[in-house]
Amino acid sequence: MRILVVEDDPDLNRQLVEALEEAGYVVDKAFDGEEGHFLGDTEPYDAAILDIGLPQKDGISVLEEWREAGRSLPVLILTARDRWSDKVAGIDAGADDYVAKPFHVEEVLARVRALIRRAAGHSSSEITCGPLRLDTRGAKATVNGVALKLTSHEFRLLSYLLHHMDKVVSRTELVEHMYDQDFDRDSNTIEVFVGRLRKKMGLDVIETIRGLGYRIQSPSQASGDGR
Ligand code: CA
Repeated sequence: MRILVVEDDPDLNRQLVEALEEAGYVVDKAFDGEEGHFLGDTEPYDAAILDIGLPQKDGISVLEEWREAGRSLPVLILTARDRWSDKVAGIDAGADDYVAKPFHVEEVLARVRALIRRAAGHSSSEITCGPLRLDTRGAKATVNGVALKLTSHEFRLLSYLLHHMDKVVSRTELVEHMYDQDFDRDSNTIEVFVGRLRKKMGLDVIETIRGLGYRIQSPSQASGDGR
């Protein structure tokens, strides 16, 4: 899962980025509205954290322009304390949720997790597929209750496929949601990660769809296919 952080306060920006990375996300950051708008307009993020008071272009304008251009990514806005009008303007502009400053970073993380889950159609903080279980709160995965020891890339890949269960996800899409903009991306590595994941899980849940990508099917869908 890949997140965009747009916040001009350098300490706050770093605090958010570190907490998100710690939680297993890959993060791009911007420090003003122009840069933030550009990134959100051109890169496929799973969610954005957007400050309202930003230099060059304010957060409300950034959000309005994303929405006008059809960018539907979940957006959490950061508002100044006691500025109820910012919250109203933000929600009217298309924000999915807000957190008022000063905030506890844990609250921001919880809201981001919820936004990503809901955008993918999951209401619970756990996503399961047979014996495989993804705990989005603890950023861990288990098979039959036994924790998998995954690298951050393996976890991101598994998390993305599970959030998008029953959909075929291309290698390109996986790469775009697993690495930040500065990373030298190579979609061939995806095959390696999938191979390692299959071995670590000891399960045959990640299907290779020849020429298209990969898919994890929910047990109900799989049986509906006559498998
Ligand atoms: Ca600010």
